[in-house]
Amino acid sequence: MLRYSADRRTLLWMLVLSPGLVALQYAKPELIPWICWLSFYFAISASVIAHNHQHCPTFKTKSGNTFFSYWISIIYGYPTFAWVPTHNLNHHKFVNKPGDATITWRFTNRHNYLIASTYFFVSSWYQSGPINEFLARARKKSPEKYRQYISQYFVVYGAHAAMAALAIYLYGWKEGFYVYGFTMGLPSIVALWTVMTFNYDQHVHTDPWSKYNHSRNFEGALTNFLLFNNGLHTVHHDNAGNHWSLLPAEHAKIRENIHPELRQQSLFWYWTKQYILAPFAPSLGTKQIGRAPFDTEDEELDIATAEVGLGETGTNVARV
Ligand SMILES: [Zn+2]
Repeated sequence: MLRYSADRRTLLWMLVLSPGLVALQYAKPELIPWICWLSFYFAISASVIAHNHQHCPTFKTKSGNTFFSYWISIIYGYPTFAWVPTHNLNHHKFVNKPGDATITWRFTNRHNYLIASTYFFVSSWYQSGPINEFLARARKKSPEKYRQYISQYFVVYGAHAAMAALAIYLYGWKEGFYVYGFTMGLPSIVALWTVMTFNYDQHVHTDPWSKYNHSRNFEGALTNFLLFNNGLHTVHHDNAGNHWSLLPAEHAKIRENIHPELRQQSLFWYWTKQYILAPFAPSLGTKQIGRAPFDTEDEELDIATAEVGLGETGTNVARV
């Protein structure tokens, strides 16, 4: 059923633990203050799983992958097809260079908490263009796919509306909103914000023209356990079709070539350094490594015709 046995953990996270926690909190709202943070974590893990699933489908069968796309869309709080136009076909092609809808340097290349925390809004705004174009193209060329994409919106928002209604039915308006909000509503908003902010951190002040320094990596074992190896970003860009479970071995082969500043250990220490300490001690903050993404003079690469690297889209686009 699964293409990679490592995805048993993906299924445990998405089919058992995440919905189980929601059910437990719906049954016993008094537990919410103690365990709702777990629902926030599982929504964030759903965003990472959605990303992985778009690149490298989880199941062997098309129907299995379609079902899973709907399911994780609900936990993640947004239709997973949206990863294809903005991430697979755009971000992976341009890698933070001009043309990438998700560039980290839209208005400034400075890196501080204000820029990082508002990146989500800026990036979302600029991602809406490629999403709308993608939908318009699908509508013309593949009505069946178009219906599937649009139905993801209905499934996600329908499921959230139904769960909000259930909570209100069980506990009344005030407590109902509280129950739905802290188990599903807010976790999915935080997941969307976090996955985009994480992507910002993976590319801000990196050198997209470099073979090894185009991404920032987080090598810590805990970060990579919790985020399904999404800390290992250089090898992910080198071959996006690679399954997440194979990334540590790939990373080990090239890690010595990566600039030491782009090999952070702990994500939490990096965030502490960058967003809490660096305003007082600037030397702890990141600096542009190598050539800046917007430095396109004497550019060898023709951005307009740059090819998508091996294994980056292919099956993902066809199957989802
Ligand atoms: Zn990716």
